[in-house]
Amino acid sequence: MILITGGAGYIGSHLTDALIEDGYDVTVIDDLSSGNYINEKAKLIKFDLRDGSQLKVDDVDVIFHLAANPDVRTSMIDSIDHFERDVKVTFNLLEIARKTDAKKVIFASSSTVYGEGRIPTPEWSEIKPISNYGLFKVLGEDMLKYYSRNYSIKGISVRFANVTGGRVSHGVVKDFIEKLKRDSSKLEILGNGRQRKSYIYIEDAVKSLTFLADYYNGNYEEFNVGNEDWITVNEIAEIIEKEMGIKPIHVYKDELEGRGWMGDVRFMLLDCMKIISLGWRPKFTSKETVRLAARDLLYGYRK
Ligand code: NAD
Repeated sequence: MILITGGAGYIGSHLTDALIEDGYDVTVIDDLSSGNYINEKAKLIKFDLRDGSQLKVDDVDVIFHLAANPDVRTSMIDSIDHFERDVKVTFNLLEIARKTDAKKVIFASSSTVYGEGRIPTPEWSEIKPISNYGLFKVLGEDMLKYYSRNYSIKGISVRFANVTGGRVSHGVVKDFIEKLKRDSSKLEILGNGRQRKSYIYIEDAVKSLTFLADYYNGNYEEFNVGNEDWITVNEIAEIIEKEMGIKPIHVYKDELEGRGWMGDVRFMLLDCMKIISLGWRPKFTSKETVRLAARDLLYGYRK
């Protein structure tokens, strides 16, 4: 059986759909605090993973651990809630993994563990987060590494770039579309618009997770998963505006040296050669990803 925490959320629900389509038996643990996409063929355990590890689950082969609060911006404000959802939840999940003799845990980590370092950023770069969210992902990775070493659970930390596409729960594409739907004459851009990052389409992100689950049999390792190109916030605005057929004026809220919010990493491009050399490669570029995501959110292409 495959267990997916956060399986009612954005990435988790697409992963659930893909695995069920491939014929797997999937159980989802989610407290439904933000996610509400429930595949009717999956077994849902509605449970708040902050509350402990006393769950009864049998025959767990692989666990994809995606439950978290994924918002970098709010992690700098509601740090205790983030600590509980991003760190305590991961500890409780690892306890469930240990008690159920799970064979493999795949943890959704993030590019934010690196902070603002060398570009492109390989896995061996310095770990220097600049947000609480990034710090909490580092703690999650460390706990998984420890459990892998001490309890013979195979562990993989997947350091995702920005993932976007239909159902996305947060992020710049969703934010811009919501603002422009409210007022198509002007767009408020957080930061100076020149922040430049790599984006990966949901389909590619899901394939990277299933690829690593199938391939990896070592004890513990980290893998970057992102795109080979990157794109500025201004370019994202242009793509969305073109899709919507509008030309709003841009108003910049630039109070943090170009950052959109405290903890925002301005430049992010991961070196993904490690996973690419094993055989996974993104199908869509960052630009195509943003265009597809805009279409998903505007017209429901990939719901
Ligand atoms: P999401 O918010 O859409 O999904 C998270 C899910 O976790 C939700 O369904 C929510 O209800 C559930 N959840 C939260 N707290 C819980 C708790 N205490 N107990 C049980 N369930 C709980 O987020 P997402 O964008 O799908 O992200 C999934 C994972 O990938 C997260 O760990 C996130 O940090 C990581 N990640 C996402 C991105 C991205 O761009 N979306 C990038 C890097 C890493």
